[in-house]
Amino acid sequence: MSLNVIQSISDMQSISNALRKEGKSIACVPTMGYLHEGHASLIREAVKHHDIVITTIFVNPLQFGPKEDFERYPRDPERDIAIISAAGGKYVFIPSIDEMYPPEFQTTISIGNISKSFEGLYRPGHFEGVATVVAKLFAATKPDAAYFGQKDYQQTLVIKQMVKDLNMGIDIQVIPTLRESTGLAMSSRNVYLSPEEKKSALVLQSALQTGLSLIRDGNRRRISIEESMKDILAGCPEFEIQYCNAALGDTLEMPDEFSETDQIVLLIAGFMGKTRLIDNMTWSSK
Ligand code: AMP
Repeated sequence: MSLNVIQSISDMQSISNALRKEGKSIACVPTMGYLHEGHASLIREAVKHHDIVITTIFVNPLQFGPKEDFERYPRDPERDIAIISAAGGKYVFIPSIDEMYPPEFQTTISIGNISKSFEGLYRPGHFEGVATVVAKLFAATKPDAAYFGQKDYQQTLVIKQMVKDLNMGIDIQVIPTLRESTGLAMSSRNVYLSPEEKKSALVLQSALQTGLSLIRDGNRRRISIEESMKDILAGCPEFEIQYCNAALGDTLEMPDEFSETDQIVLLIAGFMGKTRLIDNMTWSSK
């Protein structure tokens, strides 16, 4: 079967309703397009566990700040479709902006504490935009499960909170970050980086590895872990740090001292030239 490309919300809903009636399990993989292997790994994982995988492609204006890169965000739907097919996806939902946000549109989903720190501080309104669009994509695709990347760690917590609070009954799966052979986390925005910036960007991964090895060696003092990571980042003056923290993996709270059994997430964000980069790594004793 070739790839089904669906553009209208009502068509998407009719198709999903019919598939559900046939007893098929549906997974949704929300993306903003310009797909890479990281996205493909989400689709491949979803294909393993569900009869139908619907990849969505929508560059969501609501989640970009006024000074951010909405206009210049890279787009290549034809290449995306080839990547989705190669990963085993059979359905792609590509709505237009008007389809998603007609002039009379007036609802926003706002999520509490978990969306306020880190990305929420540096990108005001971002998670309202994400939650609103993901809720709409869920309403259009009616999935049993949805697949998200650990690359956007806080986003996974925000989505899980929304799904729980609004009783959406969708199983949220989080897939490990896919990295280039150098260790750089794959991102659609990596095309903005010059070859030199790409090399410099490896400092994020070095800092995260340093933090992880301290934790592995038994250090649980947050400031000490963070300072060691910041020392590494300081070795690359081209990287302008926004945040570099260790936090509890489930709540993003930042105690002075972690316990032996805490799940810890190390989070870094900042600018490499004009390109904003984020990355994270998690630690769990289990
Ligand atoms: P985006 O198109 O950037 O909005 O990403 C769509 C989905 O792909 C999100 O759930 C991301 O977390 C996930 N994703 C992005 N980059 C990666 C990566 N390098 N590895 C795994 N998943 C990723």
